[in-house]
Formats: sequence, structure tokens, C-alpha cells
Amino acid sequence: MAENARLETKLISVDPLSPSLREIQLAAKLIRQGEVIAFPTETVYGLGADATNALAVRKIFEAKNRPQDNPIIVHVASIDQAKQCVVEFPPLALQLAERFWPGPLTFVLPRSEYVSSEVTKNLDTVAIRMPAHQVALSLIEQSGVPIAAPSANLSGKPSPTKAIHVMQDLNGRIPLVLDGGSTLVGVESTVISLIHDPPILLRPGGITLEELQAIIPEIVVPPDFSSDQPISPGMKYKHYSPETKLVVILDGKDRPVAQIDSIGRANGGQPLILCTNPRHRHDLMSILVGKTPKEIQANFFSSLRILDEASYDVGIFEGITFEGAGLAVMNRALKAAHDIIE
Ligand code: AMP
Ligand code: MG
Repeated sequence: MAENARLETKLISVDPLSPSLREIQLAAKLIRQGEVIAFPTETVYGLGADATNALAVRKIFEAKNRPQDNPIIVHVASIDQAKQCVVEFPPLALQLAERFWPGPLTFVLPRSEYVSSEVTKNLDTVAIRMPAHQVALSLIEQSGVPIAAPSANLSGKPSPTKAIHVMQDLNGRIPLVLDGGSTLVGVESTVISLIHDPPILLRPGGITLEELQAIIPEIVVPPDFSSDQPISPGMKYKHYSPETKLVVILDGKDRPVAQIDSIGRANGGQPLILCTNPRHRHDLMSILVGKTPKEIQANFFSSLRILDEASYDVGIFEGITFEGAGLAVMNRALKAAHDIIE
């Protein structure tokens, strides 16, 4: 973006539990005017625009340098609004929505004409979810339109879980950031395709595979979420990378500290251990990402940003289980990794 095209980015605090209508209406007005703004959801911060306005949606791609063929998730505030965005809302979608919405589960369904083809990049399907965050829900309601929103980071950077992360990436590129504090879930939503029978898991996320399997035992889980022939266009991009080299040690949480430290030293320079075992006492500089998979999930992306800010030469992530919240964490960790140690 040219320097003279820079905007002044306002950063406004909102109460995440009961946001005042004044701030929400200011943001909703910008959405109706076809602008792009950042707001908190329970997963990560979103970069939102009116999903029915092609010009507004194009601004999302510009602001974050998003690859043009990567479609965006549409956020709604009610099941009725979700139904407007699709040709058909099947009984399974209703059952899943009743169980998991509002919450971090996204469905891919046949798209209606109501949603701009800019959102879905000319696919005949649309990804849709209802976020579990008062700021997001109130913003969608006050805007009166569904809001298309990818994560509010520059493409390729770790997803933002705090407003400051959004400012680091997008200051001067968008008019407004609503600051609702840290996001609780910390990774993006789980995406499933309901146009396939049985449904397919397209991206692990805030709702665990085990929770889904309780309702859809037959759900198909692709063996490799970063295959060259992606079903979900977003799978083929290398996401979430810190600039600093990241080494992921599989099952690092359960390995001897000495082994992890020696891997850190072997990589040269100044390493930072992203520790996931509270009993580990490293000789090297370390931060505890979290004690449980959920906590590690909540803090994972901000740990990657700490790694970059403090100018370490390498980050060593102690890998965790692939079960429960571990699946989404390890999916993000392996996508971000420059090196994986088995
Ligand atoms: P993000 O915006 O970074 O949260 O990524 C959205 C994810 O949803 C990406 O992996 C997209 O490829 C995926 N997605 C969005 N729309 C569709 C769609 N119509 N069909 C399949 N995947 C989709
Ligand atoms: Mg993203």
C-alpha cells in the first residue's frame, strides 16, 4: 500500500462481555459504509467487512495481503441469518448449530446469491459460523449484514489474539480496531464440509475432533492437513510463521530437558524454548506456553510473536499430544515449523 494511502487507525477499548452500544454503532456504521475493521471473536481477532458488498470484501484482501484465491468465513448472529447465506441449511447443520453455536465451528454449505462471490472466490460454497463473543455478535446485529472476516493479521504472520497484534500488522491500513482484550480460544475455528457425505474435517480448530465425533462418528479426517491437493483452499498456504526459525520437537513435552536443551544449542545463536511441560527446568531461556492443551492453544500464537519481538535466533517448541485441543495446536505448530524433530 502506498505511503500516502495510510489511514489513521483508531484503537478503541470495548468491554468483551457487555460492550457499550456507542462503540459498536461506530464500528457498525463503518461496516455499512463498506469499510474494513478489526474486532475480537472468541477464536482470534477478525478483519471484517460486509459480506454482501464486493468492494468492501476486496478491501480485506488488500489490507492483509491475502492470496486472492483463499475464500473467507462469513460470520452471522443467528441461525436465520445463516440460512440467508446458503441454498439449503440441512438437518445436520441445524443439529450442529444447536450444539456448538455460538462457537468456533464453521460449516461449508452451498452458497446463496446473498453472499458476494468475492467472499467465496467464485466457489459455489460458503463457509459460515456464529462467533461466541458479545462484541462480534453485537457488531453483526448492529450492522444488519453478515460479516466476512478472516484473521486480522498480515497474511503469513501468526494470527492475532490481542488488539496489539492487530496494530503491529495493520496500523495505517484500516480505520478501526476494537480492543476487547485477549481472545479465549486462541486458534481459529474448526472448519467442516457439510457438502460431503460423510462430512470432512477441513481444518482442526476451537471445537475438538472428539466433540464432533460425538455427533458425527463417521466424520472423515484427511491424513495430512497440508496436502498438495487441498479440499479447502486455505490448506495449501504456509500459515502462521514467525520470522524466527521455529523447530518443533514431536512429543517434546515428554522428553528429557537435557535433550531439548541440546537441540536448542545445536541450532546456534540465542534459542528460546517454548515450553509445554511445567516440570521442565531449562538451562536456556524459556517461557511456559501453558500447562494444559487448552491453555497452550490459548497462548500459542502470542508465544510466536514473543519469539519474533525479542529477536531470538531460534524457537524450540515442545510438541504435545494430537488429542483434544492438541490437534489444533500441533496443526498450527507444524505449519509454522521450519524444522520438525521426530
Ligand atoms: P481464515 O480466514 O484464515 O480463518 O481461513 C478460513 C478457512 O476457511 C480457510 O482455510 C479457507 O480455505 C476455508 N474456507 C473458507 N471458505 C471456504 C469454502 N467455501 N470451502 C472450503 N473452505 C473454505
Ligand atoms: Mg488466517
